[in-house]
Amino acid sequence: MPAVQSPAIVLVTGASGYVAAWIVKTLLSRGFHVRGTVRSSSKGEYLVKLFEEYGSRFSYVLVEDMIVDNAYDESVRGVDAVVHTASPIGVSVHDPEDLIKPAVSGTLNLLESVRRHGSSVKRVVVTSSGQTLLSPKPDNPAIYTEADWGDAAIDEVRTKGANADYIIKYRASKILAERAAWDFVERYKNNITFDLVTVLPSFVFGPLLQEVSSLENLNTSSRMVYDALKAEKSTEDSTKYTANDVDVRDVALVHVKALESDQAGGERFIASRGPFSWQVVYDALNTANPPVSGVPKGVPGAGITTRPNIYSADKAKRVFGIEFRTLQESVVDMVANLREREVEWAAGRL
Ligand code: NDP
Repeated sequence: MPAVQSPAIVLVTGASGYVAAWIVKTLLSRGFHVRGTVRSSSKGEYLVKLFEEYGSRFSYVLVEDMIVDNAYDESVRGVDAVVHTASPIGVSVHDPEDLIKPAVSGTLNLLESVRRHGSSVKRVVVTSSGQTLLSPKPDNPAIYTEADWGDAAIDEVRTKGANADYIIKYRASKILAERAAWDFVERYKNNITFDLVTVLPSFVFGPLLQEVSSLENLNTSSRMVYDALKAEKSTEDSTKYTANDVDVRDVALVHVKALESDQAGGERFIASRGPFSWQVVYDALNTANPPVSGVPKGVPGAGITTRPNIYSADKAKRVFGIEFRTLQESVVDMVANLREREVEWAAGRL
């Protein structure tokens, strides 16, 4: 099915989020029109101001809770494509359903609204996660591609319920939401005008564009980075494999390429640079030019001492012609941005 090109109109759900704000900016800078869904008019107005150089090409609509039936009915009317990023991430969830229900219902409500009211929509891009790939593998390193699914997390959450680790609950929510999207387009394949692409980012680093009114309101993954740089970890903790990382600006570009590319229809795309430990992050900051002051030093050069997983982004590189930014560029820019935010939080200006 055909992809979309600028000046098409793209609906971006959860537009005030960390990843989504960069998707919106990337779309606008390439000539697209963007309608963003937000949960409050103050978040919408913040984005209007942030993107004022693009004038009327950016607008927002309120979707306070995507769990509500028909939540997206109005917002999908007249758009050419949709990027669905909205999904809960909060680490403090107890009941796994608090992640699973919004992730799955939000995705299905959106697709149902597009099916019923979005006859102009040609493509839907859903933000999934590299977490959906992770089932145990014996290899060292363990390599993951778009063919992998970590369905064991679903069984683990069913067995352990609230006692499952946070990451297993989150993984299950993302797998169930992505699978629901693929099942939906398969079920309605003869009656819908759009195709589906999913993007699977690894852990996202890089500068923030979205409104963050206080440290407590920092998005979950950025808060993990903030906390990791505030207090030096033990050598064991700082050198163990942590996750794969990717720059938020590259994640945004993969989403936009996923909209623009004919070839992308019906495919999953991993967006990832490579594996990291916190020591690798410390070293990237301390060896930058100029070095970033005031961050932990750890044991320079100790790298990653435990078996890493590697998400292969070869497919995105091949199909989209993307080169991913270095970890050093991502974390240097992120720390600079977080330090500007700290000044604003202290001054109570946001
Ligand atoms: P954010 O928390 O910054 O963004 C999530 C967005 O979803 C927010 O705009 C939030 O609105 C919205 N949202 C959450 N629940 C609801 C709901 N019930 N109804 C309507 N909107 C809702 O997170 P990120 O930008 O980091 O994440 C964006 C996407 O990327 C998610 O799908 C996430 O799973 C995925 N991802 C993120 C990674 C990361 O490292 N950050 C890694 C891999 C995937 P509000 O803020 O107003 O509550």
